[in-house]
Formats: sequence, structure tokens, C-alpha cells
Amino acid sequence: MTEVIIKRGASGLPSVPRSGTPGTYPYEAIKVAKLLRAEGLTVSFEDEKLDREYVTHDAAEFWLPILAFGAGITSNVLSGVLVELIKNYLPSRSGSDQQPDVEQPLLHLEVIRGDERLVLDGSVQDVLTAAEQLRNGGAGEPEELLVRERFRQCEAEAEGARRASHPDQQAKDDLHRLRAELREIMDRSEGNDPELFERAHGLLDEVGGIIRRNYRESCCLEYREGAYYRECPVDLAHLRVGLSPEIRVRASECSLCGADPDDCDHIPGNEYDGQVCNSRITSGEIERVALVGRPRWQLTRFTSLEVNVEDLRQALGPAFTPGVRVSCDHCLSGCQGLMSNFQTASHS
Ligand SMILES: [Zn+2]
Ligand SMILES: [Zn+2]
Ligand SMILES: [Zn+2]
Repeated sequence: MTEVIIKRGASGLPSVPRSGTPGTYPYEAIKVAKLLRAEGLTVSFEDEKLDREYVTHDAAEFWLPILAFGAGITSNVLSGVLVELIKNYLPSRSGSDQQPDVEQPLLHLEVIRGDERLVLDGSVQDVLTAAEQLRNGGAGEPEELLVRERFRQCEAEAEGARRASHPDQQAKDDLHRLRAELREIMDRSEGNDPELFERAHGLLDEVGGIIRRNYRESCCLEYREGAYYRECPVDLAHLRVGLSPEIRVRASECSLCGADPDDCDHIPGNEYDGQVCNSRITSGEIERVALVGRPRWQLTRFTSLEVNVEDLRQALGPAFTPGVRVSCDHCLSGCQGLMSNFQTASHS
């Protein structure tokens, strides 16, 4: 009996196809299959080995395979298996105590159980906490999970900001935090949870409007050394583009026995007779540097975009001199829709 099926596609990466042969899997799937087998589960892939291809992405985040469990698996069992699996991705604590400030990698894991789908997305510790809560939370509703929970907190804070009599320092601080948090929730939910994405987008637009009307100085183009930059998080959140390198693995080997990691029993990261097992990619190619709608990776997310000064001069007329404050009109005029084509994204 197969207890877990590793499905085509990669958790949190809609650019990796979820259908078609050969099936595409994150390279991490090989390790995850071994870890789950070590937990005593029977694991199979949606495709036979000859019909499987692996892709790997930047190492600072882990995109785990999509795991499908039978509907009969209880929340407690599921929680236990996921907790054991996720623990393998905690940063190793060399030396004495836990260092709270160690930067944690991000982990992306989608789990299907019957017709439920759980999207676990966050730092390894956050994802671990969410998996532990499945045990206590009974049914393990997707709504109980991390990103949705964060959105609920945003909604509560937004309610406070709506009622505040502006200007108000506390409300201003809350609105600034909401602006950054909602942008991140959009990034994290896009593709995984379209409904949450739209709700976060709507609330972000509202927050942007409140800031623009009551705290104009917080919603304008940044000016530095003769140039203007778009840095309003509400504005930038509407540009659904980012760079995403994707590498297709052609061949790899186990560092201990030299076999294809798909075939041997060594688990990457584990120690065998004092030697740590690694998977080495011996042949791979950059499949594409995709312009994707998900600037999830910090380095590829736009935080600043220069604005053409001539465009500003034309838009604002002869009174314009470089250095004057130029408001972010995005938040004044309301939502003009999401821009997926970077070329059309002009600010006037
Ligand atoms: Zn091996
Ligand atoms: Zn703005
Ligand atoms: Zn919008």
C-alpha cells in the first residue's frame, strides 16, 4: 500500500509544471522520499524513475515536493510525519546553544490529504510550528495555517486603522507595517492561494489609500542625488515580476557511494561513519532565467525602481524642478490592476 505519493510539481513554485510527462520534481524530492521512508512510510512518485526530471533552485530556500497522503491519515499522524521531515531543514546548530538570530532558510511545502490542501510557507521554524499545530488543531484546516493567520492579523489591524482619527502616530506605524506585511502575503499566496492573494491585494490598496490621504509624506517618490525612485510598497506590489533561475538536473551522484541518489539509501545531510552524505549535481543546465510573477526570493524582488526624470517633467509641466516632492499617484488614483508586463509600468 502506498501511503504517500510525491506529486509532480514543486511546492510554492507554479512555474514548475504539475502535469505532463516526464514529470518534473524538485531535486529535494529524492531526500524527502528517503526521510519519509525512514519514518516507516511507503513512498512512491507519481512517475516511474525513467519519467522523472528534477529541477533545483537557489539553495537559500527549500522547495519541497508536493506530498499527497490518503484521506485516512489522521491529523496526529500527519503532524508527526511532517514535524520529523521539517526538522531536517532546521539550520544545524554547531556549537553550544541555540542562536536565536541565525537566519533561517525559507521552506515551501504543499501537502494534500484527501481533498484538503495545506500550504506551509515560511521560515523553517514557522513551518515547523504550523505542522506541530496540526496535531492540536484537529482537522488541520488550511485556514488555520500560517499565511492565512498572518492575513487575519492584518485585517484586525486594518480595522483599527480605519477607525483611528488621523493623523495618529500609532495608526501611522500600524499602516506602515501593514503595507509591508500585505505585500509579503501577496508574494507568498500568489499561485498557492488565489483567494487570499486577491484579499491581500484589496486590503493593500485600501491601506495605500489611507496612507496617501492622511500621511502624504509616506507615499511619495524617493529622491536621491538627482534621481527619483518608486519605493512605495503598494505601487511595487502591483508589478508581478521577478527573476527566477531554474536549473534542470541532468545527472547527480551520492558523495558517499557515487550512485544515483535516486537509487542509494544514503540520506543527504546525514552522517555515515563520520562522513556527511551530499548529493552532487554533476551535470545540469540553466533551463531559464524566468521572469515570473512571484518575486519570492529577496534578491529578485524589486524594492526600488528609478523613474525617468524626463517623464516626470512632461507629466508635471514647467513647474517641475528635480528635488521637489513628487507624490506616489498610484495610491491616490486607486487600483489600476496588477501589471505583469514590466514595460508598461510607468509612473506619471
Ligand atoms: Zn549513496
Ligand atoms: Zn503609494
Ligand atoms: Zn491594486
